[in-house]
Amino acid sequence: MKTLKDIPVGATVTVTRLHGEGPLKRRVMDMGITKGVEIYVRKVAPLGDPVEITVRGYELSIRKSDAEIIEVEKGSSSPKPQTTSAEESAAEAPSAANADDSREIKIALAGDPNCGKTTLFNELTGGNQYVGNWPGVTVEKKEGRIKGYRNVILQDLPGIYSLSPYSPEEIITRTYLVKDRPDAIINIVDGTNLERNLYLTTQLLELGIPTVVAVNMMDVVRKNGDDIDFMKLSREIRCPVMPISALTGEGTREAAAKAIELAREGNAATRPHVFTGSVEHAIAHIEESIQGKVEERSIRWYAIKIFERDEKAYGGLGLDKELLGHLDEHVVECEKEMDDDCVSIIINQRYARVKELADASLRKRRKAGSLTLSDKIDRIMTNRILALPIFAAVIWLMYYVSVTTVGSWMTDWANDGVFGDEGWHLVWPTGGKAAAWEDDSAAYAAAQARIEAFEAAGDENATRLFRIEDEESGTVVNYPGELDEYLASKYADAEAFGNISKDDILALFDEKGAAKDTALADISLSEADGEPALRVAGDDGEDGETFPLSGFIADKASVEAARAIAEPDPADTAKYGLWFRSIPAVTDAAFEKWGIEEDSWAHKLVFDVIFGGVGTVLGFVPQIIVIFLFLGFLEDVGYMARIAFIMDRIFHKFGLSGKSFIPILVGMGCGVPAILATRTIEARRDRRMTIMLGTYIPCGAKAAIIAMFVPAFFSRSAWVASAMYFAGIAVIVLGGLILKKFKAFAGDPAPFVMELPAYHLPTFYGIVRHTWDRTKAYMIKAGTIIFAACTIIWLLMHFTWGLHYVGDELDQSILASIGNVLKWLFAPLGFGKDWAGAVASVTAELAKEQSTATLSMLAEPLDVAGGTLPHLRALFMQLNGAGLGTLAALSFMLFNLFNPPCMVAIVTAFREMGSAKWGWICVGFQFLIGYGIALVVYQLGALFIAGHFGFWTIVAILLVLATLWLIFRRAPIIDEEHKD
Ligand code: GDP
Ligand code: MG
Repeated sequence: MKTLKDIPVGATVTVTRLHGEGPLKRRVMDMGITKGVEIYVRKVAPLGDPVEITVRGYELSIRKSDAEIIEVEKGSSSPKPQTTSAEESAAEAPSAANADDSREIKIALAGDPNCGKTTLFNELTGGNQYVGNWPGVTVEKKEGRIKGYRNVILQDLPGIYSLSPYSPEEIITRTYLVKDRPDAIINIVDGTNLERNLYLTTQLLELGIPTVVAVNMMDVVRKNGDDIDFMKLSREIRCPVMPISALTGEGTREAAAKAIELAREGNAATRPHVFTGSVEHAIAHIEESIQGKVEERSIRWYAIKIFERDEKAYGGLGLDKELLGHLDEHVVECEKEMDDDCVSIIINQRYARVKELADASLRKRRKAGSLTLSDKIDRIMTNRILALPIFAAVIWLMYYVSVTTVGSWMTDWANDGVFGDEGWHLVWPTGGKAAAWEDDSAAYAAAQARIEAFEAAGDENATRLFRIEDEESGTVVNYPGELDEYLASKYADAEAFGNISKDDILALFDEKGAAKDTALADISLSEADGEPALRVAGDDGEDGETFPLSGFIADKASVEAARAIAEPDPADTAKYGLWFRSIPAVTDAAFEKWGIEEDSWAHKLVFDVIFGGVGTVLGFVPQIIVIFLFLGFLEDVGYMARIAFIMDRIFHKFGLSGKSFIPILVGMGCGVPAILATRTIEARRDRRMTIMLGTYIPCGAKAAIIAMFVPAFFSRSAWVASAMYFAGIAVIVLGGLILKKFKAFAGDPAPFVMELPAYHLPTFYGIVRHTWDRTKAYMIKAGTIIFAACTIIWLLMHFTWGLHYVGDELDQSILASIGNVLKWLFAPLGFGKDWAGAVASVTAELAKEQSTATLSMLAEPLDVAGGTLPHLRALFMQLNGAGLGTLAALSFMLFNLFNPPCMVAIVTAFREMGSAKWGWICVGFQFLIGYGIALVVYQLGALFIAGHFGFWTIVAILLVLATLWLIFRRAPIIDEEHKD
């Protein structure tokens, strides 16, 4: 016995039998793999699984373990169709209410996944629903009114391959069609994939609801040079068949008008016979016996469902047991006669009929088996060796463009220009005026630094001054002036630095002619590369830290010269080009006019909240747009389904279905639709697991966090940024491994049978709309949730419990006292030295980008020169308190990326989990992961970078060991019967 699993790539085989029973077999058959059908094995995924096949003219991806049930034989055969021809059928449906224009009517859009339902919905209603070139995008039904008709409601439904549903979103569709009964159905059929799509049509026509078949994608059909005979098809299936293209709008109005007309008449199409004599005979018997017990219009639908023993469908009718037992005799007789089970009989015959229909009405230009452009692209994109590197490269490129180039130019312009302190020049990159401005302002800045250093030294006789630049914290210290204070803050509690040599310092001061009495205790002097440097000795004579005195900056004479350099006026149009004042500058001017003083709290509130908090979040819009543009393109072009195909093998190994990857990909935009998208997953265990893990891919809001931290701490590296993405995948995989070892999740993942849509060129408009929708949502959030949260945080930050305004004494504030209570929780993660760390972490749960707003509101009051980036570095030095600012920032970023998602996503997860218990398990698990990762990274980092070893180091090591144990322990044996 040969099964599909054993067939090499490139071979064509014919299905001889399907083994087993239950949902998998049914699903496989519903997708068109039935006895006698020809299958061409196209490709095996890069990691050996799943297999990609062509069946009935479309591409399908199926897992090897599932392919095992399909018995095949080599070579092609042409099975004889076993159907009766269409003939006059049973009684016409009774006509309901007659043409009445004022009655509200409902029209449903039904069709296979990815056939263009939502595109048509948007086209007809002017709506803005989500469209994507991959199955599983629409998971809820959506309503809208058709433009130009007052009383016509159009319903977009999740795609279904058959009316025997498996997953929750398919149940939505079936329930709606069968129970709520729309007045008419527009059945959208993908014209490039006629055969598989008509399979659903044969079932829809049995419902007894007026139906228009709209053959979509006609633009592509024509481009392929194919031809469909609509008249013939219409005659055969006895309902109107109309060509449309939802994308270009061709024929859509006509199809809608026809559906409305049929709905008003209430006349369902006559129901053609689809099955062979003996089956029709049994069905006729059943129909006769249930007459009067079910609604007349749908009698055939119920009769067939009784034949199929689909209890879920007829269970609600309350038919008595005896009658059902009697009816089953007909079925048993039929099964005996045909030597097959009832479900297979129906599916086989439907497909036979559908093939007949397709053969009669479709003329294909392209020979079967020849390569389309889509095939050729796939040869590279899903290539055994190249697929994963290409996937990695695509993600890297996305972050590279977003964080490092386009996005960052735009963000710099937004943050330093439009929302900066002063303003911005309208200059082209090549303009000499731009260069002039840059030179002049650089010269002025250097002169100012010189003067400042000289004055800071506080010694009129100083002849030589040096400058220390602490790269990590971004601090600049003028030596000798501010040295005392700087080192005291940096080493306040460092017992580690025991080697004290005050004399050395004084000697240096003397040597440089800047003698100064200093209380410094633990500093010595050294030469690094022949340059003077300050060295802080380590413990027990170990190497300490060396700060180069980076260059001579001032003496008396040079300061005189510096004082002569005037500040360039940016508004000098003749010299530097057109100058725009920044929004804060304009606001400032207005405030001055209205007499609002600069250090009044109203002034501060507006500046901190709007420009500091909300402005920060909005400042990332350009970078977010770049990411959304990429996503929109990848989705529309059809690459997403390929990623699921590539990842399935890996995910399967770890107990997750490749199908779980679809929600995870949706999560790159936003976690909320990602959680909703888990509805395409049939098995409850898999669904729960995907909800728990699906939000670990950085969403748009988390991208803002990455966009803030990567430039500030990791020199704008696209590697670090995209590493966050792959860390997300790693967490999902490891999390899956761990969860699978618990009884509640154990067992094999659900079958993976997924269609791979053909690639197509995305439309400009489509991508722009996707991007705009998502960006708009991000900006609206900034204007509402973030704005409100920032205002509240600001008030808490500037008032005491007794409601006194604290000014700059933030440590007295309500927020500080709350943060002080919580900060111990974050101390092991490296950012709990100060209350601010706790506050920024907690507020991030409102919305992830809130942490960027909170951080910038907290960093702003820090009295450090320079833009936001040095502020942030200084803030993290302070939060850390042990000199490991960058590591603390990494830990903070990881904590925020990997702990539970934002409030809205958590609420959605609770709802989709269906029980509060599972909601809490989900949030608890996510918190443990986020906290654990940050703890391990910080503690082990501190151990290896600075040799810190303490209680929490041991905890971190134990945590790593526990995780390894959880991953590698034996899976529990589960009872397959009671697994769900
Ligand atoms: P749904 O899953 O049935 O709701 O399908 P969507 O409306 O999300 O569309 C799936 C994909 O098909 C999207 O990439 C659409 O842009 C594309 N599409 C829809 N209608 C047409 C059409 O008439 N022509 C072409 N070329 N593409 C279409
Ligand atoms: Mg849709």
